[in-house]
Amino acid sequence: MTTCRAPVFVGPNLPLEIREFDLPTLKEGEILVKMRLAGICGTDVHVWQNPKSPSPVIFGHENVGQIVSGAEIRKFDSVGQEIKNGDLVLFDGKAPCGSCHTCVVARAPTLCERGVHYGFGVISEPPYLRGGYGEYVHLVPTAGLVKASESVPPERCMLAMIGVHANVSGFERMGGIRPGDTVVVQGSGPIGLGAVVVSRMSGAGRIVCIGAPRFRLEVAKELGADEIIDLDEARTQEERVRRVRELTSARGADVVVEASGAASAVDEGIRMTAIGGKYLVLGQATDSGTQPINPYFITHGQLSVFGSWASEPRHWLKAMRIVSEGKVPTGKLITHRFSMRNATEGLRTVSRLESVIAVIQHDPG
Ligand SMILES: [Zn+2]
Ligand SMILES: [Zn+2]
Repeated sequence: MTTCRAPVFVGPNLPLEIREFDLPTLKEGEILVKMRLAGICGTDVHVWQNPKSPSPVIFGHENVGQIVSGAEIRKFDSVGQEIKNGDLVLFDGKAPCGSCHTCVVARAPTLCERGVHYGFGVISEPPYLRGGYGEYVHLVPTAGLVKASESVPPERCMLAMIGVHANVSGFERMGGIRPGDTVVVQGSGPIGLGAVVVSRMSGAGRIVCIGAPRFRLEVAKELGADEIIDLDEARTQEERVRRVRELTSARGADVVVEASGAASAVDEGIRMTAIGGKYLVLGQATDSGTQPINPYFITHGQLSVFGSWASEPRHWLKAMRIVSEGKVPTGKLITHRFSMRNATEGLRTVSRLESVIAVIQHDPG
């Protein structure tokens, strides 16, 4: 086979268009991956619906696939494990350049100024294969990849790359949580559910998850949330803050994780954080504009506020360990699977909040 197909974003709200591409000849250090699973992320839906989004783009930045070729030269993944063609690997949406100011001086490679994007960015030149919704992805030599343990099935690897990895990274940035800490998670999408999982595995005391729709909160409970606050019942900020205080001996939570993506959640979150507590803002992946916050609560509460963007290969490795332990009941997390041809329906499903996690599932083999 010398060609492959990918669903391509060609304009706001338009159906993704299946296009054919040549399979590239690899240069030294490059890797060709045959995709197995790609997460259909809320960010994809935002880009798909945004009238300002440039195109064409192949979506897919939460990826699990199998190395087809290139491992015989590259030999190792990004965390020192030996790789060979045929291995299952995890990778995300960014290959940092490793030499810009942000990579080297700020040491924030997830925000690299120059690198190659996967699942984002216009595909303007060969080899074009830059997103996991497509059958194949071409990885440049600087792209991070982590080999999956042989015992871990692709679905669990996928869960490591959706939600859990971002929390492993964010928790590291804020210096983790202490055993017994109370945690409030704002949001019950993949990042919020990942926050519940990582909090539970980090030894949290009581975990409260705030979100909607109800079926996602039920999943949050199965993953380890002790209490849920349903946005369809507690409709105002005052009600939700009061409820959190009731559940935390009136003090608020030691740690609050913002995973909802709603800009208005930030003012609410700092009001839920206990004196001396930490507020981790993970969910604001798109710029949804300015919202008022009352900074008095940050000063008076002596809060530590952290932001975290994406994750690095070491976080994927740890996320995979967390979901592969068998302690996390992951069975009900992937609720919707779409073929590449039905990717547009996948975007619609995620936009209607019908799924817990939805994926593009490629044919194995
Ligand atoms: Zn994403
Ligand atoms: Zn860089």
